[in-house]
Amino acid sequence: MAVTGKGPYDPQNVFAKILRGEIPCKAIFENEWVLAFHDIAPKAPVHVLIIPKKPYVSFMDFSKTAPAEEITGVTRAVGQIAADLGLEENGYRLVTNAGLHSGQEVPHFHIHLLGGKAFPAFPA
Ligand code: AMP
Repeated sequence: MAVTGKGPYDPQNVFAKILRGEIPCKAIFENEWVLAFHDIAPKAPVHVLIIPKKPYVSFMDFSKTAPAEEITGVTRAVGQIAADLGLEENGYRLVTNAGLHSGQEVPHFHIHLLGGKAFPAFPA
């Protein structure tokens, strides 16, 4: 069910549990700012979720309240992960769902990194 993206932050959400190591994930990258792992229900040949380690409900929350250093760290990590996965030559799509109209389901800010195929013009 879609969430508002506004909070308060629910520490029992599935990505919080992944960050605490309470449930497994197929991690591909981690640094001081983010954890990245394969989506459990991939919508493309490459479908990775990149999440900040700190508790933000959505992009709405992250963009308003994260320190500039963290916004830079998360953004650079996304670019580095895309490059590491070999997606720069053919390109990729970034998606973040924020709030009810987007269909956001997990109330921990995350960026979908999708690649490995040509996508229809957006919105599909
Ligand atoms: P969103 O609709 O933007 O909130 O996307 C949530 C995404 O999380 C969906 O693409 C799900 O397939 C993915 N997801 C949910 N649970 C897990 C999990 N345990 N491990 C990896 N991906 C998950």
